[in-house]
Formats: sequence, C-alpha cells, structure tokens
Amino acid sequence: MNFDFKGNKITATALLALALGVCVVAGREFAGNAEMDAVFPAEGFQKKMLSDYFGGLKGHPMDTPVFVQEGPEPGGSVLILGGTHPNEPSGYVSAALFLENARVARGRLFVIPFANASGFANTLAQEASPNRIRFAVLDGSVRTFRYGSRDTSPVVMWPTPDIYIHKSSGQELAGNESKNLNRAYPGDPEGTPVERLAYGIMELLRGERITLAFDLHEASPEYPVVEAIVAHERSLELAAAATMELIGQGIDMRLEPSPKNLHGLSHREWGDFTETMPILMESANPSQGRLRGRTDEALALSGRDKAYLKAAGLGRLFVPYDENGKPLEQRVARHVTAINVFLETLSLFDEPNGVSVENMPGYGEIVEKGVGAYLRKPNRESNGKPN
Ligand SMILES: [Zn+2]
Repeated sequence: MNFDFKGNKITATALLALALGVCVVAGREFAGNAEMDAVFPAEGFQKKMLSDYFGGLKGHPMDTPVFVQEGPEPGGSVLILGGTHPNEPSGYVSAALFLENARVARGRLFVIPFANASGFANTLAQEASPNRIRFAVLDGSVRTFRYGSRDTSPVVMWPTPDIYIHKSSGQELAGNESKNLNRAYPGDPEGTPVERLAYGIMELLRGERITLAFDLHEASPEYPVVEAIVAHERSLELAAAATMELIGQGIDMRLEPSPKNLHGLSHREWGDFTETMPILMESANPSQGRLRGRTDEALALSGRDKAYLKAAGLGRLFVPYDENGKPLEQRVARHVTAINVFLETLSLFDEPNGVSVENMPGYGEIVEKGVGAYLRKPNRESNGKPN
C-alpha cells in the first residue's frame, strides 16, 4: 500500500488551520458574552458602580452599574433591582424602562438594571434558552437584551458544591443554589463572588438609607408564587395597601408574607439586616417553566405555548392563561404599574420619605405600544458598560 505522506500532511495542516479558525470565532463570541448590554439613561441619572459601596468588587466581573437620579424636592430613596435572575426578562426590562424614562420629582431613585452581571454571560445548561431578546424601537432600530441564567457564570464560580450552606443561618440547599444571588444575602465581604455581590447590594441599601427596595423577578405559571408580591413583615402593610389598589385597577395580584425560616432571599435578609422595606415581585414567564415546548426568543417575548394552554385547561396553572399567552409587555406593565402604585402608597404612609417619579408609561400604554416604544434609540453613547 502506498502511503501518501505529503498529501496527509497538507490535509492535517488544513484541518488544524480550520479548527483554529473555529476556535477564534467561537472564543470571540464567548468573550463577547461578558460585555454588558447597552442602556441609555434618562436625563438626570448619574452612574456609579456597586464597587463604590463595597470596594471588594472593584475590577471584578461581579461589579455592576448603579444609576441614581435625585429630584429637586427632598424625600426618601427607592431602589429598583433588575437582573437578579437573567433568565427572567421582565425584571431587567422593567428596570431599564425606569432608567430610560423616569423623571424624579421628589427623593432619589436608584436603578441597578443587571444585578448579577455574570449571569447574563451564559445560559443555563440543558435549558435550550435563547441567548437574547430584541425590541424594535420607534425609529426602526433594534435594542438587544441578553437572556441569561439564574446562576452566576461557571467562569466566575467553579466548581459547584454538592450542598450549599447559607452562612448566616446554616440552612442547607442544593449545591447549584450557591450560585444564586437570591440565596446569597446578606452576603459576605470575604465570601464567594456571589456572596460578595450580595454584600455590595446590602452596603448600598445601608449606605444610601434606602426606604423601599424592589427585587424584580419572574416565575413559571405552574409555580404557586406567581403574579405575586412577596413582602417582609416591615413592608407588609404597605404591600397590602398597594395590592388592594392594584386589584382595584384590574391587575390581579397575590400577596405573600416572606417566610421567616427561608434564608438568603432579598425579601427576608434585606429586611432583617438593613432598615429598608423589601418587596419582591413575580410575573409569569412560560419560557422558564418546566411544561414548555420549543424555547426561543418568540416564546420569551410572547409567552405563547400550547403545552401551557393545555395545562391551563386542566387547571394546573396558578395564573389565568389563554391563547394570547403571557406577552412580555404585559409582564413589564405589571411590574412598572405595581412600582408606581407602591410609590404613591409610600407617600401616603410615610409622607417625609415619599418618592415621586414622573414620565413613566401606564399599564395600557405599555401593553398597547409595546416595550420598544419606551426604550431609547441606541444613538447615544451607552452609559451602561462597566468601563
Ligand atoms: Zn427569580
């Protein structure tokens, strides 16, 4: 048999070059995932970083932008946190809507659109999630937001322990919860990256004396705590009044007290370890549910899925569901309207600490015109990037 050594060498060299080329293209795309989505703050917002409150985050991939706008009249301070779970888009899109539209008339408004920045850099394994969602802005240009993971990126935290022990309570949870920002509070300045991130958020709450703080989430339609407000005992009375007002406006909402023996969550630890009144809110997102079929950008945006329609027919869901699905604009409209109602209620309950925010679209406007109508054109320099 004749062995064509020269021919094999050429083939091997060509294959090696091809493989290296694929590595360069894939590596660049992978590295690009660590770059934050652009946001375009409304006039009056100033940008800080979370590391300004806790220096241990400086230069770390867990550091994230904090935007603040102070109104002409003195009042209290409110924080809106989006992106605790980057696979729950109504949370960070609602935070972005406040950032890009709000005009603060009284008090101070803090917005952290991408709380767990590293969770935006990857999607959850075996979930087949889309890696982005897009919105058409009024001038025809497109705004993109990443669809990420509930967990901190494995590039930042590796390996995952079998059991996660929550430090301040000793509570034991499944190992993957060690990467979940909403199991890491009150955090630890010397701890894992996500514990340091949680500590940084606690330092902001304490340092800025935040009166009322929102953590915006989504949950599966088959999960009992959905289309719901979860409130710490200190914020329960305020939340009850806001819930009644929302129901009066035709927006169905459950109210759940924060369980005292479930640790690491914002609605528990923000209230136990700071002076703030914590509120966590959940809208219904079929693209993160267990019953869903094909998982793509269309599902993340429309929430339309025939398996969920069938489950609704069988009475298995905790929210009303029909062939219209659960569109993202409806989920965002719920969060934005609920925050506005909370701010009005706060001014009634605690007048000196009231915060007044103008220029936010109403529920009907967001549902009718879509989210893109209230996002800014990407024609100015972004202020959202960490560098
Ligand atoms: Zn969540």
